Amino acid sequence: MLPTTLILEVRRLLDLRELSQRAIARRVGVSRGVVAEMAKGLRGDYGRDLDDDSSRASPKRELTTPVRCPDCGGMVYAPCRLCRARAARAAMLAARMLLRKPVTPPRRAA
Ligand SMILES: [Zn+2]
Repeated sequence: MLPTTLILEVRRLLDLRELSQRAIARRVGVSRGVVAEMAKGLRGDYGRDLDDDSSRASPKRELTTPVRCPDCGGMVYAPCRLCRARAARAAMLAARMLLRKPVTPPRRAA
């Protein structure tokens, strides 16, 4: 059974009516069938709570459980967006440094 948090996220995205069922399934990591059943009301908004059976961890478990980021040490939902944003910013600044024109001294009046 899917974790309750995933089911509730599917329900939330369905209620927003912004994404297709296919897009919701891809984003949340559940099958399109589950999303379609929920949209048609064939499936209830129930799921497995995290503590029910930790031995059957879903590959999407990291989406539902905060983990300690090995890089910044924050409790985050993996992958850590802060570290990704910092890496993107560093890359942008490095690119800007490369593109910067060399500084030329002002011309002196003759
Ligand atoms: Zn991090």
